[in-house]
Amino acid sequence: SISLALASTSLVNVTSTAGMATMRAVQYESGCLPEQMQIKQVPRPTLRSGEILIKVHSSAINRAETLQRKGLYPPIKGESEILGLEAAGEIVETHEVCHKTWNIGDHVMALLPGGGNAEYVTVDSQHAMKVPKSMSLLEAGGIPEVWLTAYQILHFVGKLKAGEKVLIHAGASGVGTAAVQLVQLANAVPLITAGSADKIAFVKSLGAVDGFNYKEGSWVSKVMEATNGEGVDLVIDCVGGSYWQQNTDVLKTDGRWVLYGLMGGANVDGALLRKLLSKRISILPSTLKTRDKQYKADLIRSFETNILPAFDSKALKPVIDRSLELEDIGKAHALMESNLNAGKILLKVIP
Ligand code: NAP
Repeated sequence: SISLALASTSLVNVTSTAGMATMRAVQYESGCLPEQMQIKQVPRPTLRSGEILIKVHSSAINRAETLQRKGLYPPIKGESEILGLEAAGEIVETHEVCHKTWNIGDHVMALLPGGGNAEYVTVDSQHAMKVPKSMSLLEAGGIPEVWLTAYQILHFVGKLKAGEKVLIHAGASGVGTAAVQLVQLANAVPLITAGSADKIAFVKSLGAVDGFNYKEGSWVSKVMEATNGEGVDLVIDCVGGSYWQQNTDVLKTDGRWVLYGLMGGANVDGALLRKLLSKRISILPSTLKTRDKQYKADLIRSFETNILPAFDSKALKPVIDRSLELEDIGKAHALMESNLNAGKILLKVIP
């Protein structure tokens, strides 16, 4: 109700303030159903020190936003309450104080604290990246959140090394499809789990060497067989609770378990600590949205140097499930919550 209240206050302001610039943006009432989300006119954001203003061409949907809509993952204090953790578009204004140099008209994609599901968004100048030549602005709208997440969990947190075997859960998810490609780029070996034969076949086409359907029962013996009985060095896990036992079964001694989501629950029922101790397994939790601005700037600079060129050389590719209009925001959330997408659901903000 807070969001709706703010939205209607804004509407009153808009009609009473002649000349105030407005924009179309997704609005919703906390806890609402996907189909109850709406597009409304709200005031355009204004630049703060260090920021650029982007005229948004495209944005995308992420699980975190479906959780925010449900009232389970609040927006960051002091940042936009509008949904949207990523967007791509054209720079239309820059603050006189910026820590990264941009020109009006540059095409950029940006990691956002929120605000991407709208016609205009402001962001720290250091959280934007130039769109690679080989990529359309539409595709670029679905790059920052999942690719930076995958890069962070594999390299900043998981310390991936060449030759290591990596089990990636939800292999067909936005993050999963990026992680599979990044593991391959690092000359390591990606294996995945997913919930259907079609998704597994699709992710194998992106480079996964093997895939296991978790809906067909335990995947432990299959992973052990696929790794010559050795198990894996690293588990990339956005499922959590329901997978703890199997994760610790397939990890090698001294293995690393990067935990970055809880789609399978937060509670653990069993002797987890005994398993961790006996195999000296490290649990490495990772979040992105709540990291401070400098950490995000450093992550983005590293990604620009080490990863972005691989899109132009075609070693990496954006994975798009489909693109929908901004007005289809409810349909986009419903699709994601039904686990129907493989890769990103994009939002075309400029039709
Ligand atoms: P997505 O594209 O919506 O894909 C998620 C997939 O996970 C679903 O399509 C489904 O595929 C699978 N899934 C759902 N519930 C499951 C369960 N209980 N057990 C096993 N698999 C399940 O998601 P995304 O936007 O890429 O995000 C993926 C995960 O990363 C989410 O948990 C999200 O919150 C997390 N995330 C974390 C960070 C961070 O920094 N910590 C950042 C971004 C995203 P199947 O058909 O295969 O079941």
